[in-house]
Amino acid sequence: MCAKELKKTSRFTEVQAELERTGAALFVDKEGSENLYIRSPYTIQYIHSYAEDSPFFLGLAEGRIRGTRCTACQYTFATPRGHCQFCGEPTQWVDLPTKGKVHAWTTCHYGSEAFLKETPYNLVLVEFEGAKSLLLSRLKDCGEEDIYVGMPIEARFAQEPSYSITDLWFVPAPGSLKK
Ligand SMILES: [Zn+2]
Repeated sequence: MCAKELKKTSRFTEVQAELERTGAALFVDKEGSENLYIRSPYTIQYIHSYAEDSPFFLGLAEGRIRGTRCTACQYTFATPRGHCQFCGEPTQWVDLPTKGKVHAWTTCHYGSEAFLKETPYNLVLVEFEGAKSLLLSRLKDCGEEDIYVGMPIEARFAQEPSYSITDLWFVPAPGSLKK
């Protein structure tokens, strides 16, 4: 294939489709530069220990979201920590609600391998009743234009756990979408 046959596009989703189809494409950026993209398989197997984070991922497999609470000052972390970041004391595991609210969000037009098929996708920082820190997760089943600060959302869990953070995502709570 010579270069002039390559598809030129300024939409990255079209680059992805063209890579699936032909293995190469030209992405034209905002300055007009033509950037050659190719597809390059890359596989690696990690053996990874979750160590003291293990209860969080085991919880997801049971449909539970676990945070941690400081045994001294009672600060509750929605993203679990082994020790309190404020007073340094150890924490203990607590169950968080499976319903929360959108604290902030963004829409990702680029993603790592695990998320390519659902790109663009929405990332949200989730507020939980009773927790003082936030949890980063995905929000599915709605468009970027549907999301607002304070939006009620609820957790969904993978039927077949992979014991990774992708076992958890959120969807709009019933009635939360503005008409
Ligand atoms: Zn503390």
